[in-house]
Amino acid sequence: MAEKAIVIGAGLGGLAVSAQLAAEGYQVDVYEKNSSPGGKMQQCRIGGYRFDTGPSLLTMPFILENLFTRCGREISRYLTWSEPSPLCRYVYHDGTVFDNFSDRKKTEREIMRFAPEDAGAYSDFLDHSEKLYKRTSDAFLFNPLYDMSDLRSLSPTDFLKIDAFSTVSERVDKAFQSRYLRQFFKRFTTYNGSSPFKAPATLNVIPHVELNQGGYYVHGGMYGIADALHQLAAEMGAAFHFNTAVEQIEVRDASVTGVHLDDGRKVDSCDLLIANSDATDTILNLLPDGAVSNRKKRKHRSIEPSCSGFVLMLGCSRRWEQLKHHNIFFSKNYRREFDDIFEKRKMPSDPTIYIANTSHTDPRDAPGGGSNLFILVNAPYTDRSQDWDTIEKTYSSFVIDRLEELGLDRLRESIDTMQTITPPEFEKRYGSNRGSIYGTSSNNRFSAFIRPRNKLRELQNLYLVGGSTHPGGGIPLVLQSASNVMELLERR
Ligand SMILES: Cc1cc2nc3c(=O)[nH]c(=O)nc-3n(C[C@H](O)[C@H](O)[C@H](O)COP(=O)(O)OP(=O)(O)OC[C@H]3O[C@@H](n4cnc5c(N)ncnc54)[C@H](O)[C@@H]3O)c2cc1C
Repeated sequence: MAEKAIVIGAGLGGLAVSAQLAAEGYQVDVYEKNSSPGGKMQQCRIGGYRFDTGPSLLTMPFILENLFTRCGREISRYLTWSEPSPLCRYVYHDGTVFDNFSDRKKTEREIMRFAPEDAGAYSDFLDHSEKLYKRTSDAFLFNPLYDMSDLRSLSPTDFLKIDAFSTVSERVDKAFQSRYLRQFFKRFTTYNGSSPFKAPATLNVIPHVELNQGGYYVHGGMYGIADALHQLAAEMGAAFHFNTAVEQIEVRDASVTGVHLDDGRKVDSCDLLIANSDATDTILNLLPDGAVSNRKKRKHRSIEPSCSGFVLMLGCSRRWEQLKHHNIFFSKNYRREFDDIFEKRKMPSDPTIYIANTSHTDPRDAPGGGSNLFILVNAPYTDRSQDWDTIEKTYSSFVIDRLEELGLDRLRESIDTMQTITPPEFEKRYGSNRGSIYGTSSNNRFSAFIRPRNKLRELQNLYLVGGSTHPGGGIPLVLQSASNVMELLERR
């Protein structure tokens, strides 16, 4: 008889693990509290405008491809993608514009315009980033880091080679003279929701992933990834139960025996439970008292979440020639911005503003030649001191005014539709710890070791998948966490 697996949550992690488990012959039932698959990767249509409400950039697509291959499917039947050009347009506080391309020569020509002193350093830093990737990927990424044997590939001297003892900011400041390139390279730490002034310089591996390997947009919208994974898992035989939350996990003799659902039902038969729910929520709220020690619970409470996001989706009746597909409007003082987010836990007074304008690539996303602006500002994780009802109104208006100052003239009067997503909404919709959008932060040199692993040691059959677990947040890492679960299952 097939082993029965229950998966809590149909986020990317839950979908990826369900497809692989079903392909291996498990009987898989997925319980998702919301009405659609994808978790934080969603899309919405407002008055004819289409928005991806979560990720806008796909990196390391080979991880996604490998997943489909392992399930015996050719990914091109489900999804195609390409790289926008430029990869991203950066606009600095003084109006300097930097178009960044994955073609280094093209980018160097751009840098010659505004920071000629750093044109050579750009390429050197990307080589450094690639070396970091080669040194760290097998040890930290493609590795569950679960048993002692997983640590074999690491020696104390490796920590020196992977820049674990300085911060991203310190290392970047050493490599570049101009404030433009410094701010540019510090930005990549936000890809896992952390501060460049706190995160270890090992995270300088991220530029390699986007600038050397490529940053992609999925044709038809990023939500295509969630759709494709859902289809794959269903084709493999996984059964999905939407609008059904798991309220409690049942444990007997250090083993999960079933789950209680919010509609009053109880599912008794369960050989294996994989929680794609946020690891903190799973450990602190879904497991019954006594299943894990109080010490472990205290440890989980103390893990710092990643930052959250303040999202503003504007359907606008016009276009702005200066906007590309991905656009960043940098703040003047990056340190103060991260201080606001992580120390003062307030919305930054001078924010860096990201705009995904997919209508630049696909005009069907905005009717009548307009624009669909998905605006994201890094935000603090939730804290009792914040009054989000007030912030939501005042900050939306502040961001619109700011963008008009930055050159999006007549933005306010061109708005047809407007919708926001605040940190408490991320928390409520997806159960994410304090509204974090990338799981745990890396604001600590030991964060890779503190992050919950993909199996809970206290229980024989409880596995954890998703951005709040090893190896971290973001599409490729979340997919990798599902492969880690599969590897740990093989080790049983
Ligand atoms: C605004 C935004 C922008 C982002 N940009 C990027 C980007 O450009 N590139 C990138 O790579 N990443 C990006 N990310 C991060 C990426 O979206 C996440 O890392 C990833 O989607 C997380 O997937 P997950 O499986 O870990 O969890 P989630 O997406 O949180 O899925 C967990 C699922 O479990 C369900 N659930 C929780 N509790 C229960 C329960 N008790 N019972 C039943 N179901 C439950 C939730 O409803 C949810 O569907 C972004 C995220 C956001 C929000």
